[in-house]
Amino acid sequence: MATTLDIARDNPNAQTIVAPLAAATSGEDMPTLIGLNREELAAAMAEIGVPEKQRRMRASQLWHWLYVRGVSDFAQMTNIAKDLRAKLAETFTIARPEIVDEQISVDGTRKWLFRFPPRGAGRPVEIETVYIPEEGRGTLCVSSQVGCTLTCTFCHTGTQKLVRNLTAEEILSQILMARERLGDFPDASTPQGAIVPSEGRLVTNIVMMGMGEPLYNFENVKKALLIASDGDGLSLSKRRITLSTSGVVPEIFRTGDEIGCMLAISLHAVRDEDRDILVPINKKWNIEALLDACRNYPGLSNAKRITFEYVMLKDINDSNADALELVRLLKGIPAKINLIPFNPWPGSQYGCSDWERIEEFADIVNRAGYASPIRTPRGRDIFAACGQLKSASERMRKKDREAISASA
Ligand code: SAH
Ligand code: SF4
Repeated sequence: MATTLDIARDNPNAQTIVAPLAAATSGEDMPTLIGLNREELAAAMAEIGVPEKQRRMRASQLWHWLYVRGVSDFAQMTNIAKDLRAKLAETFTIARPEIVDEQISVDGTRKWLFRFPPRGAGRPVEIETVYIPEEGRGTLCVSSQVGCTLTCTFCHTGTQKLVRNLTAEEILSQILMARERLGDFPDASTPQGAIVPSEGRLVTNIVMMGMGEPLYNFENVKKALLIASDGDGLSLSKRRITLSTSGVVPEIFRTGDEIGCMLAISLHAVRDEDRDILVPINKKWNIEALLDACRNYPGLSNAKRITFEYVMLKDINDSNADALELVRLLKGIPAKINLIPFNPWPGSQYGCSDWERIEEFADIVNRAGYASPIRTPRGRDIFAACGQLKSASERMRKKDREAISASA
């Protein structure tokens, strides 16, 4: 099976940058400060003997350095006394993951392959993150799991078994790394206290649409997104953060209630017998249950619509009857419909609908009053388009798992 690298190699226009991009990976065994909420940061300060009265202030300083300035070395935290910095560095890490590979598509899309420590997986794990620049915005497509437990038949990630969930730190690190590589953090020498403009940023939007099912890793995703949207930190508006789910119905209400981000649903079929095959989680929670959960999504309004993703598969789900049924199903739900031309991958069994078919389908949906943009495939040459992400991390061997539990 061809790998990402083979495909980039075959394409003379795709630019591949390989090592030496490795960021510091030392301190792998030390506890990280990235991904801790403010209370946890204050507790970490207590651990190293910071007096109670100073803890909140120190936690705020760290928060600022980590998420506004984007530093990855305690030595850069110039308003923190030297001996405290030394103590921090002895006890904790704020190191970023290693960049195994960075590719830039002819259309400007970038894809990174990041390597994280095993954390119980037996060996280091690798995941992909994609940056898609567009007119007036830049979207970062973030992964939530290494592999996926689900097996949607048109999705490349679905062929990679779940290795493990990503931690909140690892989810956030994808944002921090992307901003660092894009030069999207303010200059480290910006005076302390200066107002740092959020206008003109390169990463303006986050979509949880990378590898994995984010609602099967709810707590870590929630923690990471609450930090990403914190107004004193990365400051990404919740209106610009979209979580996509294949339909983990019991977690949908909590997503709106506890995270408050925008919701996207991987619908892809309008009849249960078809969706059972394309998106097998449908056998557990069918279309009716899924749409009921959507109707009850907290904050749902015409100004805050749910996006329904619909991959266009030739002769499978792309007829006019399917379009009409889609319109009927979504009646009464404030919705946008995102038509995604199928992106092929090595070994995939489907074809992408013809362009005329996609347009006719879109017309029917548009005439019913729904915005239905056709998502232009981005980064296909570097294998970065929807559903093409997959890393080589293999599921932990049974022997390794047993060895870990025996030593625990
Ligand atoms: N697991 C979540 C998040 C991944 S989002 C989910 O399924 O919603 C990635 C989006 O791309 C999903 O809508 C997914 O269904 C879609 N997708 C998967 N494989 C694709 C492919 N080969 N071509 C186009 N879209 C695909
Ligand atoms: Fe997993 Fe989403 Fe791919 Fe389905 S479409 S296999 S849920 S990543």
